[in-house]
This record gives sequence, structure tokens and C-alpha cells, in this order.
Amino acid sequence: MLLLTCPNCGERNVAEFRFGGEAVKRPAPEDVNRATWADYLYLRRNTNGMQREWWYHTPCGCWFVAERHTRTQDVSHTAFWSPEG
Ligand SMILES: [Zn+2]
Repeated sequence: MLLLTCPNCGERNVAEFRFGGEAVKRPAPEDVNRATWADYLYLRRNTNGMQREWWYHTPCGCWFVAERHTRTQDVSHTAFWSPEG
């Protein structure tokens, strides 16, 4: 059973969470053109290793970022999002 730690509620069964996709940096407004925006919205890195991801904890309604190894499912860190990463 995979456990995730919600920064608000603590460790819980992954069945209480929804995956929100890779956490990638949004392009700066001055750098945006159609191709850059399309890449940001639709291209995925499909990392084989540690990746930052968005997760949603349904019972408390919190979005947060987790660092999860995509092959081993090890979660090294969860935290509320911050611009510093
Ligand atoms: Zn929670």
C-alpha cells in the first residue's frame, strides 16, 4: 500500500489522493508563444526517477507537491507549493 503524507493531515492511504500531474515551472509571461504554451500544457517528461508532482488530498481539499520516484514509488518529500521549488 502506498502512503502519502498530506502537509495538512499527515500520512494517509494513497486512495484518498488524486494525482495532478508533473509539477513543472510555468513559463514566464514574456517568454510565452504558442509553442511554449502548448509544450507546458501537453508535453510530459515521463521521468524514470524522481519527479515533482501535484497531488490533491480529497478529504481536506489541499493541493501539494510531492517528490516521488516513478519506478520505486518512494516518496521523499511532500510540501505545500512554494515558488522557490
Ligand atoms: Zn489533507
